[in-house]
Amino acid sequence: MDRYNKLNTFLKNKFGERVLKICVDGGFTCPNRDGKCGRGGCIFCGERGSGEHTKRISIADQVNKHLQSYRGQRASKFVVYFQSFTNTYDTIENLKQKYDQALVCDKIVGLAIATRPDCIDEAVAKLLAEYQKQGLYVWVELGLQTTNDKVGKFINRGYSTQDFVDATKVLRKYNIDIVAHIMLGLPNEEENDLQDAINFVNEQDIQGLKIHSTYVIEGTALAKLYKDGKYQPIQLDDYIEKVLNILQNIRPEIVVHRITGDAPKDLLLAPSWSAHKKLVLNRIENIMASENLSQGVNFKK
Ligand code: SF4
Repeated sequence: MDRYNKLNTFLKNKFGERVLKICVDGGFTCPNRDGKCGRGGCIFCGERGSGEHTKRISIADQVNKHLQSYRGQRASKFVVYFQSFTNTYDTIENLKQKYDQALVCDKIVGLAIATRPDCIDEAVAKLLAEYQKQGLYVWVELGLQTTNDKVGKFINRGYSTQDFVDATKVLRKYNIDIVAHIMLGLPNEEENDLQDAINFVNEQDIQGLKIHSTYVIEGTALAKLYKDGKYQPIQLDDYIEKVLNILQNIRPEIVVHRITGDAPKDLLLAPSWSAHKKLVLNRIENIMASENLSQGVNFKK
């Protein structure tokens, strides 16, 4: 029995078999980097826009390469995940062209689109809804990181928590599932931030959650703060405690896509534990099993 509502299990139940993700770099940029709403990006964001594991070759080639690799043999259904930068930040024509490129064969059963709330509007939602009409499962991953707008400002997020709420309404109008990203260990976090984030996630019409640890990678503004002694990364024990708190207090039906970050080892400055995803996952699993914890046990309507 899963102790929390894991993405893999959710997809297996939905499609009747194992479904894996293929991460692609769609060649996008971000309005928080090109000057439209800001420059330099969020202070933790690396050169590759949170897509350090993807490579810049054509979208179709990226998907095909994955399908031909040993990972492509491990399932017969896949969701293409547009991960790097802001994957709705382009004209509708270009977005359509890029998403279409990912649909290389009928093994592709879904599209996952990572973006910012201020890059969601009716036209984007309508386009994504078209893919759902074709039978694909589409979800949008929206960066929230924090519900504390003061922290949001400090990390140079460039949008407000209200923008997230507005984007949620537009997407849900078209029945598109939403996965909120939150981060633990951000600079200047306040005491109530964790509880506020839990309440927010429970109150909003969102279907999925990704929990990330904040890590420091080379070349970012956060790296400078860290090197100057102005930022201390979250300790592993503290992180685990917070994740357990979140899992037990969120709605049981929320699909948990991730409970830790996946830091690029070659660029990671700190904390060193964030390079060991398995270790973090195992610790959380073991505590949940030994203490008989599960998602949503403390959730009250
Ligand atoms: S919105 Fe995303 S891609 Fe843009 S700077 Fe922030 S983390 Fe990076």
